Amino acid sequence: MQKPLPKPVSIVTGASRGIGRAIAAELARTHRVIATYKSNLEAARSMAAQTGADIVQCDVSSAADRAALMRHARERFESLDMLVNNAGIAPRNRRDVLEASEESFDELIATNLRGPHFLTALAARWMLERGRGRIVFITSISAYAASVNRAEYCISKAGLSMSAALYAQRLAAHGIQVFEIRPGIIRTDMTAPVEETYDARIAAGLLPQPRMGEADDVARVVRSIADGLLDYSTGQAIDVDGGFHLRSL
Ligand code: NAP
Repeated sequence: MQKPLPKPVSIVTGASRGIGRAIAAELARTHRVIATYKSNLEAARSMAAQTGADIVQCDVSSAADRAALMRHARERFESLDMLVNNAGIAPRNRRDVLEASEESFDELIATNLRGPHFLTALAARWMLERGRGRIVFITSISAYAASVNRAEYCISKAGLSMSAALYAQRLAAHGIQVFEIRPGIIRTDMTAPVEETYDARIAAGLLPQPRMGEADDVARVVRSIADGLLDYSTGQAIDVDGGFHLRSL
């Protein structure tokens, strides 16, 4: 009897909580998953117990941590099928663009842009050895919607959107697909402090589909990519935003 093929391997960054956790749980049904976290070991452990994922501490803004993550993955698995660049942060304090600090700018760029951009280079080099793979960038509606009280977040996500386009272009001929997912307002720890404000704005008509999104709404889109349902597409930005991006007159 033939041995069954080994399950595909995925890395999901920032998977201890929120959207990343939902993605790791979804992928773990069919993949072997390396799920990273930054500092919340308790949340990471509970995610691992829920999903069976392998947890690795990795501050994505640190080059040394990124290299260690890839070393760990290469030692443990023979190949990499999917990378989901999910880890990201909001500014510690929302401040007007005229007053915001360079420290916050640097922190957001290092975590939300430099980290995933260079982690992707490491992962892509590995995928190129086999000529196959899928890479997902979780950006945001903030890649194009200007929020003047968190400019550094918007700038980091706009840059990450270009990172996705660049890798899509570079890797397409080598069998590696790249997707950008732009979540809208998703119920997680990140949006908890402003949930009431968003609820009121949604009730007042902010979104064509009048509800906040859930982490699973994003995870299901990653599932469709992982299952190969979008195999003749690359560089696509997929809006998971209740129609926020639509214009009307
Ligand atoms: P969240 O609930 O705050 O979870 C953030 C996750 O990222 C946690 O697992 C956290 O690990 C990890 N993390 C934080 N800083 C990190 C770092 N420097 N290195 C590695 N991991 C780090 O956030 P979320 O709402 O799920 O957001 C996930 C992604 O979706 C982010 O990129 C965010 O910008 C994007 N997004 C969110 C929304 C939304 O409405 N929620 C909308 C659009 C886009 P610890 O648990 O260890 O802290």
